[in-house]
Amino acid sequence: MSKIEIYDTTLRDGSQSEDVSFSVEDKLRILYKLDEFGIHYIEGGWPGANPKDAEFFEHAQKFKPKNSVLTAFGATHRASVKVEEDPSIKALLAAEVSALTIFGKTWDFHVKEALRVSLKRNLDLIYDTVTYLKKNVPRVFFDAEHFFDGYKANPEYAVKTLEAAASAGAECLVLCDTNGGTMPGEIAKIVSAMKTMFDTPIGIHAHNDAECAAANSIVAVEAGATHVQGTINGLGERCGNANLISVIPNLKLKLNKSCVTVSKLKKLKDLSRYVSEISNLRHFKRQPFVGDSAFAHKGGIHVSAIQRHPETYEHIRPEQVGNYQRVLVSDLGGRSNIIRKIKDFKLQVDPDSPKVTEIVKELKALENQGFQFEGAEASFELLIKKTFGLHRKFFELIGFRVIVEKRKEGEVPISEATIMVKVGDKMEHTAADGNGPVNALDNALRKALYKFYPQLKEVSLIDYKVRVLTAGTGTTTRVRVLIESGDEKHKWGTVGVSENIIEASWQALVDSIEYKLLRG
Ligand SMILES: [Zn+2]
Repeated sequence: MSKIEIYDTTLRDGSQSEDVSFSVEDKLRILYKLDEFGIHYIEGGWPGANPKDAEFFEHAQKFKPKNSVLTAFGATHRASVKVEEDPSIKALLAAEVSALTIFGKTWDFHVKEALRVSLKRNLDLIYDTVTYLKKNVPRVFFDAEHFFDGYKANPEYAVKTLEAAASAGAECLVLCDTNGGTMPGEIAKIVSAMKTMFDTPIGIHAHNDAECAAANSIVAVEAGATHVQGTINGLGERCGNANLISVIPNLKLKLNKSCVTVSKLKKLKDLSRYVSEISNLRHFKRQPFVGDSAFAHKGGIHVSAIQRHPETYEHIRPEQVGNYQRVLVSDLGGRSNIIRKIKDFKLQVDPDSPKVTEIVKELKALENQGFQFEGAEASFELLIKKTFGLHRKFFELIGFRVIVEKRKEGEVPISEATIMVKVGDKMEHTAADGNGPVNALDNALRKALYKFYPQLKEVSLIDYKVRVLTAGTGTTTRVRVLIESGDEKHKWGTVGVSENIIEASWQALVDSIEYKLLRG
């Protein structure tokens, strides 16, 4: 099993994602998470270009990573000063790391138009920078910026830039698809060509502008690259970098390369979610390997097949990457989905009972009305419990009234709800206001019930979604309301459908409260 080095640049390239802004504290947390996972190299930032990165390196030196090598990123020295006098080169050395990555221009067009120096001068910049840094730091990687575009435009010159870096002692020649537009076939061809020309190890750094970054990293490894750069969840400039969360399991499970251990691979989903959390981004549902939908089955034929043999519709066992199989509730599924759900909910009922057929029918009728239980599993669990007689009523609604009043233009309307409920033989009549009618109704209902069920104080409303359902001919428009609620330990979703938005919200609110009370 040959070894592939994994080089993570979430903290540098990844931090350039739109919508992502890491504080120094965030970066440190990600650093230690990546270290725990066993990533070989972690690029912490570009200290010469970003003062926040210099601060990060200061902190990172106090608690050095245990498994990983921390690296810093920078450019070849400025053409107008000597390498040892360049402030950004000084900043790189001040990071006090044992490995550096230096990027240099390899595309003649960029040398002339962006750097505005002669082709020869650029080769000197690469050679001098790598030589100087090698004297001070054990390992220097050379990032060959725009290498594939450069090689296609002027192969002879592009190869010369690699020669300059290799002869100066670069540890690895990392070929970058900086603009992310190269196709996998071209990557394979060019990496193989470099492999025959150089003894220095070859690496790959791919961007995802043509959605080929992961594939390009894989074909580069097949062509002989032994060092792969990327980011967690594919964060990065524009469309992002190669997603290590996909590259790592492919290298390990499909290409049989050694890159992380079997037990660390089981933490892959955990790592991916952690970085989403810190980035303050919603975790991508359909993300291969680690998304919630990655092993979710909806079609009835699929569900009965995977229950006998998971490999019928799963490319790997989800447990290998810390994910799990899910069966979705849907009108596409029949009895087998329902039986599977009964098991998931750990309900003490007989799966062969004719009541299961009743549930299938009920479910189809509800879905025709516009109900959908994906994302509202608590409502579905209640439906099963009601059919099997495992449900009890906690309160009875006598009536409610919701008022929205706007007194003059430009003023925010006031929403107020009054409600009367009966719990046992006690009547409770309360009123509450809120930000909008649904919030007022929710507040009033809880207020009426707290006295009897104080545990409802732990529940909060996390998310509220309304979807207008398209009406068929001759029918009125309905809305579907999805509510997500939670307490300290759990989250649950409930659903309501009606022509009236207040009624749809009421159904979802009642389900949410009943679900909490039934759990005890
Ligand atoms: Zn990049």
